[in-house]
Amino acid sequence: MRIAILSRNPRLYSTRRLVEAAKQRGHEVRVLDVLRCYMNIASHRPEMHYKGEALSGFDAVIPRIGASVSFYGTAVLRQFEMMGAFALNESVAITRARDKLRSLQLLARKGIGLPVTGFADKPDDIEDLIKMVGGAPVVIKLLEGTQGIGVVLAETETAAKSVIEAFMGLHANILVQEFIREARGSDIRCFVIGDRVVAAMKRQGREGEFRSNLHRGGSATLIRITPEERSTAVRAAQTLGLNAAGVDILRANHGPVVMEVNSSPGLEGIETATGKDIAGMTIQFMEKRLAERQGRPGATRTRGHG
Ligand code: ADP
Repeated sequence: MRIAILSRNPRLYSTRRLVEAAKQRGHEVRVLDVLRCYMNIASHRPEMHYKGEALSGFDAVIPRIGASVSFYGTAVLRQFEMMGAFALNESVAITRARDKLRSLQLLARKGIGLPVTGFADKPDDIEDLIKMVGGAPVVIKLLEGTQGIGVVLAETETAAKSVIEAFMGLHANILVQEFIREARGSDIRCFVIGDRVVAAMKRQGREGEFRSNLHRGGSATLIRITPEERSTAVRAAQTLGLNAAGVDILRANHGPVVMEVNSSPGLEGIETATGKDIAGMTIQFMEKRLAERQGRPGATRTRGHG
């Protein structure tokens, strides 16, 4: 295969591992900075250029598009799809996953377990909003936050109200969520490829911290997940249309609840915690999908775009 990896930085662990795994399996691979790609939108022969050179002949694309470049990044990916390349995760699926409200609504519609969650922009009755999700304690999240920043635990109704008012004052979009106390500061990252959870790790926040993010000093260990957790993770990824995803699950008293589905899950934490070759499994999955696609006459293009 000729593989393009869309990544802003070839030195990142995940990018390096994917390059290594692709080469090891005999493929040609190139890392492209998504912001440096430029294109023309033409109905017959869409083109992609890079540093003055016309790119063509890529069989597959691995998008590693950071949240800050989602808009342009997904447009570049869409162009590769239009040029006939197989995308590990398609542009529409990434767009769905990046929108927290939309993802939670889609997951809810499929009956996947979720923490009770409220969304608000300018609620006139904040107390009612808090009541809607079951009352304090609640977790309040900034929609734009990542790595646990902008995620606040409000133990009392008064605290919740002040935090919501403060965020509203900053014109930030927020989400108010039932606090899953029984998770005890830990969550489970399930790495899904295709219709399987290929690896899972438990992330535990440091003492006294309810957020398990590794960036906030949390630690990761190997964990055995239940069949219900396994199927929840796979269904969550499939609902959003992702072939590769990091599905974050909390163990609630009433079963597994999905907190987030990540469309560009990092490889470092999970490969280190589990000792598995996730990069290799990713490339292997792409080989299989591409072979299936090429086996079907007239099926060299991806499904609907947009
Ligand atoms: P980010 O996307 O910024 O990492 P998350 O929504 O994943 O934010 O939250 C960060 C961490 O906080 C999670 O990994 C989890 O450990 C904890 N957390 C988030 N929401 C809840 C909740 N509703 N109940 C319990 N813990 C939570």
